[in-house]
Amino acid sequence: MSEQCRILHHYFNQLEKFSFPFESQDIPQNGIYILFEKGEHAHGTDRIVRVGTHTGENQLRSRLRQHFLKENKDRSIFRKNIGRAILTKRDEPFLEQWELDLTTRKAKEKHRSSIDIDKKKEIEKEVTQHIQNNFSFVVFQVEGKKRRLEIEQKLISTISLCNECGPSEDWFGCYSPEKKIRESGLWLVNGLYKEPMSEMDMEWLTELL
Ligand SMILES: [Zn+2]
Repeated sequence: MSEQCRILHHYFNQLEKFSFPFESQDIPQNGIYILFEKGEHAHGTDRIVRVGTHTGENQLRSRLRQHFLKENKDRSIFRKNIGRAILTKRDEPFLEQWELDLTTRKAKEKHRSSIDIDKKKEIEKEVTQHIQNNFSFVVFQVEGKKRRLEIEQKLISTISLCNECGPSEDWFGCYSPEKKIRESGLWLVNGLYKEPMSEMDMEWLTELL
């Protein structure tokens, strides 16, 4: 998969890169995003550190806002993972509270008395700063939820199966408590080491970009 991974890196690095603050109207409504991180290089260019998409129709922009802007870790597994690494690096016991999913009213009520709300806000702010300062992304349009999820998974698999690229020694993900993140060099735990991009998928992508 190393050759495909090299080609993917070079394809995606040629696209227009966005970083915070970005204009929503420049981003397609449906598609896949590819994240890069400061200090990470692969195949002679910037290393892909995450691939993601959205399920609901026309939700790509909103998905990116959930990662870069909306201070709610329970709506973005990416934010949750960045927070986990920040807290693990400092060996902060607050990690235990950070793990709690407070999406439902029931969960909120259950944990209300045990959650340090100010601390949670502080870490959310820190996560936002960290993401806005360190990550950039490219996007490409893909219509149809099924196809988006398929290509997302195949891109993740192709990159994770490459044995010519990986994280730098100083990669922030090394602080992640998630073994899959540390080992894959990707801010991802799903879609790794499965079915990679086929010849046909690669051709389809070449024509698209
Ligand atoms: Zn590679």
